[in-house]
Amino acid sequence: MTTPSLDSLFTPGLVAAQQPQWPGGPDGAPIRAAVDTLKKLPPLVFAGECDNLKARIAEAAEGKAFWLQGGDCAETFVGATADSIRNRIKTILQMAAVLQYFASLPVIKVGRMAGQFAKPRSNDNETRGDVTLPAYRGDAVNDLEFTLESRTPNPERLVQVYNTSSATLNLVRAFTQGGFADLRQVHEWNKGFAKDPRFSARYEEMATELGRALDFMASAGVDPHAFKTVDFYSSHEALILEYEKALTRIDSRTGLAYDVSGHFVWIGERTRQMDGAHMDFASKIQNPIGIKLGPKTTPEDALAMIAKLNPANEPGRLTFITRMGAGLIREKLPALVKAVTDSGAKVLWVCDPMHGNTFESPTGYKTREFADVTDEVRGFFEVHKALGTHPGGIHIELTGDDVTECLGGGEQISHEDLASRYETACDPRLNHTQSLELAFLVAEMLRDR
Ligand code: PEP
Ligand code: MN
Repeated sequence: MTTPSLDSLFTPGLVAAQQPQWPGGPDGAPIRAAVDTLKKLPPLVFAGECDNLKARIAEAAEGKAFWLQGGDCAETFVGATADSIRNRIKTILQMAAVLQYFASLPVIKVGRMAGQFAKPRSNDNETRGDVTLPAYRGDAVNDLEFTLESRTPNPERLVQVYNTSSATLNLVRAFTQGGFADLRQVHEWNKGFAKDPRFSARYEEMATELGRALDFMASAGVDPHAFKTVDFYSSHEALILEYEKALTRIDSRTGLAYDVSGHFVWIGERTRQMDGAHMDFASKIQNPIGIKLGPKTTPEDALAMIAKLNPANEPGRLTFITRMGAGLIREKLPALVKAVTDSGAKVLWVCDPMHGNTFESPTGYKTREFADVTDEVRGFFEVHKALGTHPGGIHIELTGDDVTECLGGGEQISHEDLASRYETACDPRLNHTQSLELAFLVAEMLRDR
């Protein structure tokens, strides 16, 4: 079989928004060298795993599963430590256990992880005092430190994205397949972890009940393998097209192109222009893909995206991740869901309650109110209930650490508290307690949907 050339797969000459200004230009020697290196490296994920995820998304779109996607806004190279990765995985596993236990629905676990290193920015530059430098675009592009050297884009970083993603994924696979994710470990995941005794107590109670149910089943001779390992998928925003294209490969089983940098990739609100290079890229790969939809999205936009990205209406192929803001979700979402449902298109609807609710605290930090986050999710559930459609999942910026980046929640983090542990490289994340608290609230909504 002759392998189709990947170079002719993507339409040339399209505008790619939000790309770095690489030294030497877009076709200069530095970026070409990085791309050549990446092209020779093995895939980070197997195309068959992407297909498995697609099949699970198809089930979720039918109302038979719930999607839980979470992780950093921006992963960093220094943040890819064993502790940090383990805490994020534990947080997602705990949230999934809560959702699954109370709503009796399978939960698809997806990390914003092992590839989420590039950020779109509203401004190309950042000014501090009388110094203006290129904005931080994620560790894939430059460094957060405010010096000219650090902020100058460096394409060698793309190779480091690959290496760090590879190491992260290796640990994720070890944790989720090697016994750590065994449902009998639900107690262990919480030990020395949950700060707030109220959520801890609630979690412990659930873990005890779950343990009893597992004992009961084991006593009846039922001890399935499914309780011992979990499928955990990787995802990131497909932003830096040089990187994503270099990791797009022809699958030997099917002869089709897959982006093997992650299982699921999404196109962000700022790069989803219909005639742009990101949408062309997404239309040419076989992975399950997501598109972020902000409050200005019209029903016609949504239908045009479906026509471009999933003309054959393949189940599980397309996920719409809405990020309207708590104040707009009830007003803006119904028309989109109605138009898509009436068209017969199969999509998974996921709520990102983070990106429409960001503001600057008087203390100078970019933050979010926990109450706004939960209110947007509540609005998402209300809209789907009214239309008889499935509120398919949530997309959360979170970390397993006790950071103070989002306001409120059970710990009542105040504007003054933000300074104590504000560690994100980009947007504010829910901490471990806030994430667990959100899971309990969403579990109730899911049960009562
Ligand atoms: C993000 O997910 O970090 C992001 C930039 O989102 P959006 O494209 O929705 O603004
Ligand atoms: Mn973000």
